Amino acid sequence: MSVPDPRAAQRTDPGLEWINRFARLPGAFHETPAPAPFPDATCLATSPAMCDRLGVEAALFERDPWLGACTHGSALPGAEPRASVYAGHQFGVFVPQLGDGRAKLLGEVRTAQGETWELQLKGAGPTRFSRGADGRAVMRSSVREYLASEAMAALGVPTTRALALFGSSLPVYRERVEPAAIVLRAAPSFLRFGHFEYFHYNGYSERLRELIDYARAHDYPELADAEDPVAAMLEAVIARTAEMIADWQAVGFCHGVMNTDNMSLAGLTIDYGPFAFMDAFDPGYICNHTDQGGRYAFDQQPRVAQWNLVRLAETLVIHFADATREAAIERAKALLEDFPRQYRQAWLTRMRAKLGLQSAQEPDEALVQDLLARMAAEGMDYTRFFRQLPDLEQAETRTQLESELEDVPAWQAWWSGYQARLAQEGATPAARRAAMHAVNPKYILRNHLAQAAIEQAEAGDPSEVLRLQRILARPFDEQPEFEAYADLPPAWASGIRLSCSS
Ligand code: AMP
Ligand code: MG
Repeated sequence: MSVPDPRAAQRTDPGLEWINRFARLPGAFHETPAPAPFPDATCLATSPAMCDRLGVEAALFERDPWLGACTHGSALPGAEPRASVYAGHQFGVFVPQLGDGRAKLLGEVRTAQGETWELQLKGAGPTRFSRGADGRAVMRSSVREYLASEAMAALGVPTTRALALFGSSLPVYRERVEPAAIVLRAAPSFLRFGHFEYFHYNGYSERLRELIDYARAHDYPELADAEDPVAAMLEAVIARTAEMIADWQAVGFCHGVMNTDNMSLAGLTIDYGPFAFMDAFDPGYICNHTDQGGRYAFDQQPRVAQWNLVRLAETLVIHFADATREAAIERAKALLEDFPRQYRQAWLTRMRAKLGLQSAQEPDEALVQDLLARMAAEGMDYTRFFRQLPDLEQAETRTQLESELEDVPAWQAWWSGYQARLAQEGATPAARRAAMHAVNPKYILRNHLAQAAIEQAEAGDPSEVLRLQRILARPFDEQPEFEAYADLPPAWASGIRLSCSS
């Protein structure tokens, strides 16, 4: 007969097995960060989807030892906190040492389902890589990262995740005094292109080899038997990045700071800073107020991703199996030159689906480009337009739209072409509408929605964060009680300024 365990109700171990593979790398890769005070720590929000995924209760984060470990850095049995060193090209300029200045990897867990997740705290205080900064993150940027990570996941975009958001009475000094926050984030891997650049450009070739072997085993185990494993890894990173950027462009997401240290080896969206989901469609949209040159403008993202992949390739190419260096470089070039084709194909697949097209035809790209040109010229709301598109088959709805347009003949010309194209598709209008609604979200994290949640969270009230999280977890579903969350942004939204300050 089994005897019930009296401690079961207070179990601190939620059934996660700590494996901490990154901590097993030599000391040159990381340091063990010190605890840092985080007064009046409270858990403000947890992600139900991520708690499920890990098989833990949300309440775990509301009490010690997890609450203390996630906020003050107190001990958590099994965790082996580390801050890692990396480098990166920031706005095109190489910075030889960056690192987790305010991120602390708690460790890596294996779930009961056998998935592995790295758990990382952002804003948990200074580390050896803080370069004189405070190691903190403000509530404003933490709420945005917390909500965006989970919203992107619900949209089906590869991304790092957020498990919990913590608040404190700790003041943080930016342009003004702001409350501090910490996001507990989770990802299969937090490796960045910048990790490879650090070891390559600083001439630590043995360490670079170790890192490559670690990354292959950790992030690309399926390539273990590849003939040339390093080239195969580069090829796989290129493929995943092309898919991720196609997702961004299709959903109207602008990252804002695509430095190589903000590029994930696993092809995940990482480091949510001055990002934005576009409201009115503008191909040259710049969401980062400090990016005056528009290096990271919306329509530049595919090109920048390729530029960043070239920087990664430069660190990997000498480890290709080719007999000569020249042959390895040629191979790397061929892989990189294929990125635009892969991206374009991935993007076109998504855009066809947004238009309700199931078959692929040569002129589809022109149909999409013509529509985007119309949308830009008219300043149409990107998300609302695609959501409404199937309903425009009703003349009344179309008349309503046309009453708001500047150039009705140009729009009507596009519409006729679109109708002619739809006539070649087999689906019934009802089936097409359902398929289109499954890929064209109704609810996205618009800046003004995040802003309202931030203001309340700064005052200690997470209810709007929680409400938004719930709505954005089902972006493709009609949620009649939250109709206002799908409205056009109010006029004040255009005054919201986003910068790297966080
Ligand atoms: P980011 O612009 O957030 O991608 O950060 C670029 C680099 O600066 C990374 O190495 C960060 O770890 C570091 N960093 C950013 N903000 C802080 C901060 N408040 N304290 C310490 N390091 C920071
Ligand atoms: Mg970063």
